[in-house]
Amino acid sequence: MNRRHLLLAAALAIGSAAPAAAQHWGYSGEAGPQHWAKIDAKYAMCGLGRNQSPIDLDGFVEADLQALKLGYKAGAAEIVNNGHTIQVNYAQGSMLTVNGRSFELKQFHFHAPSENRVGGKRFPLEGHLVHADSQGTLAVVAVMFQEGAANPLLAKLWQKMPAKAGGKAALPDGLSVAQLLPADRDYYRFNGSLTTPPCSEGVWWLVMKQPVSVSKAQVEKFSKTLGFANNRPTQPINARTVLK
Ligand SMILES: [Zn+2]
Repeated sequence: MNRRHLLLAAALAIGSAAPAAAQHWGYSGEAGPQHWAKIDAKYAMCGLGRNQSPIDLDGFVEADLQALKLGYKAGAAEIVNNGHTIQVNYAQGSMLTVNGRSFELKQFHFHAPSENRVGGKRFPLEGHLVHADSQGTLAVVAVMFQEGAANPLLAKLWQKMPAKAGGKAALPDGLSVAQLLPADRDYYRFNGSLTTPPCSEGVWWLVMKQPVSVSKAQVEKFSKTLGFANNRPTQPINARTVLK
């Protein structure tokens, strides 16, 4: 496998039980984010990387960002509790096109509270839509949730949320990730990494500017099911710019 395929394998492994060779990581204590780089040699980028995610988006640079072309089908196939997050694995054939590059949606999952911040502001929940192109380059569309009315798609997904790590459940037909996106498709763009080990870099981050709604009870159900906050702390921006 070349580097890009390793990156893709790592991104998709977020959805499965940790492979036997990889060491245990988590969000607190000795397994927590401050120790990820030391837990396994494969996680070295978590400590050495200079383009790590998440970040506090700030110091924006005005840019003529191209509109996202979203060709999402109703393909939410199964929901998994992998012990790190709640993830929905997606059927083939849903595409994101940006800057002439096409990426296929593989899965989406959630973090509570949000991992990225915008101008210092943290949100109660953040969704990550993980896409890969034919070369294995990853593009993550991030959606911020603010507290308000219950989210209709989450209501359907949470009904099937497996209570225990390792659990999975099939989803009913007809559920599309498109129902999770805000009406306004403006976004911020920067280069970053996976926010979980192995923290691989070269990931295109596209953060939707407009948040969508989630109820307090929906956030609580997610957090209680996982049993911990699953947000990596924000990382230094270093030499990067955030385009808006
Ligand atoms: Zn994520």
